[in-house]
Amino acid sequence: MSEHLMNTYARQPVTFAKGEGVWLWDKEGNRYLDALAGIAVNGLGHAHPDLVAAISEQAGRLIHVSNVYGIAEQSSLADKLCEVSGMDKVFLCNSGCEANEAAIKLARLFGHQKGVENPEIIVMERAFHGRTLATLSATGNRKTQAGFEPLVSGFIRVPFDDLEAVRQVSAHNPNVVAVLLEPIQGEGGINVPKDIAAYLQGLRQLCDDNGWLLMLDEVQSGVARTGTWFAFQHTQVVPDVMTLAKGLGSGVPIGACLAHGAAAEVFTYGKHGSTFGGNPLASAAGLATLNIIEQQGLLAHAEQLGNWIREAFATELKGVAGVATIRNAGLMIGIELDRPCVELVKQALEARLLINVTADKVIRLLPPLVMNQQEAQQVVDILTPLIKKFLAH
Ligand SMILES: *Cc1c(COP(=O)(O)O)cnc(C)c1O
Repeated sequence: MSEHLMNTYARQPVTFAKGEGVWLWDKEGNRYLDALAGIAVNGLGHAHPDLVAAISEQAGRLIHVSNVYGIAEQSSLADKLCEVSGMDKVFLCNSGCEANEAAIKLARLFGHQKGVENPEIIVMERAFHGRTLATLSATGNRKTQAGFEPLVSGFIRVPFDDLEAVRQVSAHNPNVVAVLLEPIQGEGGINVPKDIAAYLQGLRQLCDDNGWLLMLDEVQSGVARTGTWFAFQHTQVVPDVMTLAKGLGSGVPIGACLAHGAAAEVFTYGKHGSTFGGNPLASAAGLATLNIIEQQGLLAHAEQLGNWIREAFATELKGVAGVATIRNAGLMIGIELDRPCVELVKQALEARLLINVTADKVIRLLPPLVMNQQEAQQVVDILTPLIKKFLAH
């Protein structure tokens, strides 16, 4: 690693030179099985030929103009995103935190438009919304915030998956204008609500009763990851605002803030913008990603394979002391141990398998959506003995 890079990451000792499907090769030619997909980014795996063709064609024609002009690729992507989500309007940006910044600004503007001078947003414990000042303030993890005080004000934090806590806030706080949450928490430890339909339905009702916006951060859970286009589609609920990034561009940086109904009319001319947001190249990557997911039937596949992986680990780790729970929503998979286990990332790497540990104790798997069952079996075969050995110490 160059000494000229700022020291913001604890990097694993490997550098990749190329990839194909669920496989990556390092500079020495060693092959690794990718069960992390660049943290839920490479849903189509590496070097998907249809994606490469779409990006190459676009790059050879037009990479960037400016949002002061019409952008055909951006319009096509917005149409497609609204078709699959049922949302009405899209603002395109470049990352997850930017998408959430747009959502937070939208909520504040919505508040001001209805006469709330100091609008506040309800957020969740253990949430992760990004690293910009507003999004780290919305994040429910002190480690992300420490050293960056003063934090951005205007957030009220409640426990995740606790409707009653939100109801309490509604009774006491007239400044609330929105609730922001990940329907399934990613960085916080693959936290799946006990009954996601009841939880989101309850939040929807509270938002409707109080005139708040329901805003879902689907930066990690969106774009087919959980077996539906978006995690909220496991329920009957439609959010007012939804944010996307990670898997949307298959690695070409792109983020999106979508809005429905009245929320879609909040941003007007001059209220928000981005130089790169939704440029022709990023939009073409987003559109190709959605089309390929559809053509390859990856929604049903993500659901089926995710459940298969969970069951395979449940069978292999049955009765193993130290395994707390194994949970998933499609291909968001968490294996929670009873102790911190970050060492497992390095041990898996040595066994040529890429995984992640989040929230100290949760082994997180976010495989490419294109992984097949035989490759998934290899993930189980490599990881199971490592977990058993780690817990036996
Ligand atoms: C990764 C993530 C973000 C931040 O996305 P960046 O592109 O890194 O800014 C926000 N929300 C959730 C749920 C995420 O998983």
